Amino acid sequence: MKVLPGAVLCIQLCCGRFPFSLSLVFPCHRYTMAKRRRFMALLGGALSTSILLAGCLGNPPSRSGAGSIPAAPLVVNPELETQTISLGFLPILEAAPLVIAVEKGFFAKHGLDVKLSKQANWGAARDNVVLGSAGGGIDGGQWQLPMPHMISTGALTNGKKVPMVVLAMLMSQGNGIAAAEAVRDGNLTAELKTSSPGYFAKFQQREGRKFRAAYSFPKANQEFWIRYWLAAGGVDPDKDVELLTVPTPETLQGMKNGSMEAFSTGDPWPSRIVRNRIGYLAATTSQIWPVHPEEYLAVRRDWVDRHPKAAVALLKGVIEAQIWLDKPENKALAAEILSSRKWFNVPRQVLEEALKGQITIGASAKRQANPTLGPLFWSSDRGVISYPYKSLTQWFLIESLRWKFYPGTLDTIEQAKALNDTVTRDDLWKLAAREVGVPAKDIPTGSSRGKETFFDGVVYDPENPRAYLESLKIKR
Ligand code: CA
Repeated sequence: MKVLPGAVLCIQLCCGRFPFSLSLVFPCHRYTMAKRRRFMALLGGALSTSILLAGCLGNPPSRSGAGSIPAAPLVVNPELETQTISLGFLPILEAAPLVIAVEKGFFAKHGLDVKLSKQANWGAARDNVVLGSAGGGIDGGQWQLPMPHMISTGALTNGKKVPMVVLAMLMSQGNGIAAAEAVRDGNLTAELKTSSPGYFAKFQQREGRKFRAAYSFPKANQEFWIRYWLAAGGVDPDKDVELLTVPTPETLQGMKNGSMEAFSTGDPWPSRIVRNRIGYLAATTSQIWPVHPEEYLAVRRDWVDRHPKAAVALLKGVIEAQIWLDKPENKALAAEILSSRKWFNVPRQVLEEALKGQITIGASAKRQANPTLGPLFWSSDRGVISYPYKSLTQWFLIESLRWKFYPGTLDTIEQAKALNDTVTRDDLWKLAAREVGVPAKDIPTGSSRGKETFFDGVVYDPENPRAYLESLKIKR
């Protein structure tokens, strides 16, 4: 271990479940005894599994997390194979655990300096992870599924295989399908069969073109949600409407000027669309599939293989941030942090309402305040959100089979299972959860969350995906 002059070492030894700390202070000519004592008092034994470098090192180690609150000092853990990782994020609520872990010092506390960089769009995130941080890109970050699986196979990257590992779910719910003002007469809701029978055909007759619906990246979450919603309502997404991949700002413009009628996306966008009277929220994803899997933390496999302990430290920070985000008393501060120019650059109120599950839904603008309908980061009536259940990540591959999204790469259930087993990894999560003190009852023991039931009554049994596929009326 390299010891720098003037470094204060605080080594925590673990003895069963009872850790104790051993602090060593190395002499330093610029550091008086009184100052040292004051510094040690400040430390207050709050450090964990770590060595804190301070005192005569000059400026405290810098982190990218300086923002609305002072950056927490990086607690250097000599056991970690690296102290840094570069992660990408998009300014939507799914990124909240990453941003909060940086801002509240949850990564720094576990010895990781996480460099979070905003990605222009999902395509940019994909290109940057192919580069890796060594090539000026990123090591991983926030993903829609099955992007990490399909980057691993090369299907999204012109055949270049960049194996990735899915480590945790970042958020559940918090997404929705927004409809334009121009189709308020359609009264689009989650239950299209009852609210809007025949509307899409009528629209085509009236406008001389199909109803257009968009998402910002194809063949991933946002497209899955809009396809599931339409198909459950008896609307064939490949025949009765036109689906488009459109960058978010252009979608908003399109919804304003009447060239596009719906947009499948995550908060804050649905809330902004309602607030700015661009349209209304037709359905939330929490209505379509309560406590559904949304976006995930995934990192390049080569990074995880080289830095397994740092990967666990990364997960510890994410888990603590998710627990923090779950607490009602932290929602307002979370909104303040996330809304800043540095992160999402949106009005704080929009995020605060979204985080608290205050949703204005439907053509008649019915206001609901139900935290269980909003984004979920940790607890739910289906157990812990963060844990990467293989049964849930597998669904995105099964749904890809339903729509024949990746022919030549993903054609069978067996391929889906094998790919999912390679990419989704739950052992590191369990290790991190135990080390961070998550109660045993909250740490799943298996890889399946069991059967899932959608709003239309369709059941996805992860043990029998074939039965699920056979039960779907509209598929390719
Ligand atoms: Ca999303």
